[in-house]
Amino acid sequence: MSSAWLTRSRVHAIRPAWGGRNLAYSQSVSSRDGPTPRVAIVGSGPAGFYTARKLMREIHGTKIDMYEQLPVPFGLVRFGVAPDHPEVKKCQEEFEQVASSPEFNFVGNIQLGHDLPLPILAKHYDAVVFAYGASKDKELGLEGEDKPNVYSARSFVGWYNGLPEYRNLDPDLSTGEVATVIGQGNVALDVARILLSKLDKLKKTDLTEYAVDTLEKSKIKHVHVVGRRGPMQAAFTIKEVRELLQLEGVNFQSIPPELFPPDLKKLERPKRRLMELLQKGKPNDPNATRSWSLQFLLSPNALIRDKNNPDVLKGVSYSENVLEDISDPASRVSAKGKDKNVTLETSLLFRSIGYRAEAIPGMELVGANFNTRSGILHHDGVGRILPIDVPEHKNEAPTTNTNITQQPQAVAPAKAHLYCAGWVKRGPTGVIASTMSDAFQTAEAIVQDWRNAITKSDDVSTEAGLGMRGWPAVKAEAESQGYDLTKVVNWDGWRRIDAVEKETGKGRGKPREKFGTVSEMANVASVPI
Ligand code: FAD
Repeated sequence: MSSAWLTRSRVHAIRPAWGGRNLAYSQSVSSRDGPTPRVAIVGSGPAGFYTARKLMREIHGTKIDMYEQLPVPFGLVRFGVAPDHPEVKKCQEEFEQVASSPEFNFVGNIQLGHDLPLPILAKHYDAVVFAYGASKDKELGLEGEDKPNVYSARSFVGWYNGLPEYRNLDPDLSTGEVATVIGQGNVALDVARILLSKLDKLKKTDLTEYAVDTLEKSKIKHVHVVGRRGPMQAAFTIKEVRELLQLEGVNFQSIPPELFPPDLKKLERPKRRLMELLQKGKPNDPNATRSWSLQFLLSPNALIRDKNNPDVLKGVSYSENVLEDISDPASRVSAKGKDKNVTLETSLLFRSIGYRAEAIPGMELVGANFNTRSGILHHDGVGRILPIDVPEHKNEAPTTNTNITQQPQAVAPAKAHLYCAGWVKRGPTGVIASTMSDAFQTAEAIVQDWRNAITKSDDVSTEAGLGMRGWPAVKAEAESQGYDLTKVVNWDGWRRIDAVEKETGKGRGKPREKFGTVSEMANVASVPI
């Protein structure tokens, strides 16, 4: 391994050479014959696939092993994006194209840091890219939040989209007529829309069958979508608001005019159009059976439960807020007068105040520094993970929570250069398009570092210890240490799962019927559970 490759110097990002949408491996812009990098990507969401796509195009012959904890790829494109947004999922076709390259290898059903230790992985690659997203959610910090009838948007969205982790969530939507979503981003509006939409439309999407069954029994008639600030500061975008306003048979409770800036004409166009849409609202339909409202300037401070049965949610108490300047998109909230409280009745609560990432066990052993305060990996701004002082106990098993019972006793130093992309790099915000730009930036840093290393040294192609590199070397070493990797689902395995899901969906008039459990997926992929 070249020492130049390991240099963590800040290198200016090269200008993106990516033009068209189609992959053309033969048109690689790599002008240099010789060694090509072997790269591990952890996570198969948009960040992972767009990093792979760019790398494979920029350096012809780059070999990618993509590790994914689930037997199925695509991350939040499969498990987050709403079922009634099929056009958003079209990026999967691009990802399929990336995966069709002979240089691409999918290692599914393997959770890094649990099924396979990071130090083994990092020994056998030139670069490791962490693109594992943000798989936790933020909490409100209210007493009783962990009791029945309070759900995270992440769990609810994961449940209706077939995420195995939430297959048994089984939310009870029949406890009352009012639901509340706390948070005013697009995920909050997705939750509200799924609760309010007519089922005949949703049934034709890839919404899971069990979610359709539960939604059929739903008694929800009104959804509050609550934010701590005003309309100007809400994070949702115009498309999602418009979709909710266009729902048939669903009324919208108009927003008090004093919450809008006095002169909308002064606002920049996107904000102005959003404010105009909210202000205009929707004419009241006397035949509507459902409704929704946007509640502003409220911070939840207590859950109100039935005195005789604490499992029953009756409402949420909020403190009212005022803004210093309602026209300012960044206006800070300050408490109003004498701690004025209001209560809104509700029988169900969804918190949708953001996702958060966490460290993979063993990260410190390979030199990656996860900042628990900011919730992202410590990097140089373009995706190169910054070095940390190697702790004295570097040969000991990690102290972080891990299911690995067989951590290697002596950990070989990481050989790979470390990078990050996507939500674990910049935090859990932004759409697929911004994740793509971000992944391209990381790939450019890798390309730049690789080219610098080749320029300065010839030894970059030196094969690692076992005479193999990449996945075969990782597999051999892990198995020699007792790790069972027979459950790996490769791309062919995913294709079999995909085919069965599509076939089952066809019979039900929908694009696919997703498997809801890992064991069903493993069964179809013919790997042990
Ligand atoms: P992810 O998509 O989360 O991918 C990370 C992958 O890493 C996952 O497959 C995960 O299983 C895997 N992983 C995690 N830990 C490990 C591990 N230890 N080992 C191996 N693998 C691991 N954007 C839009 O443009 N349009 C939309 O309509 C839209 N809707 C959204 C709806 C919701 C509910 C959410 C939450 C987001 C939505 N987004 C939407 C945003 C979009 O999904 C994200 O920008 C994008 O998915 C982030 O990509 P990522 O690759 O960083 O993370």
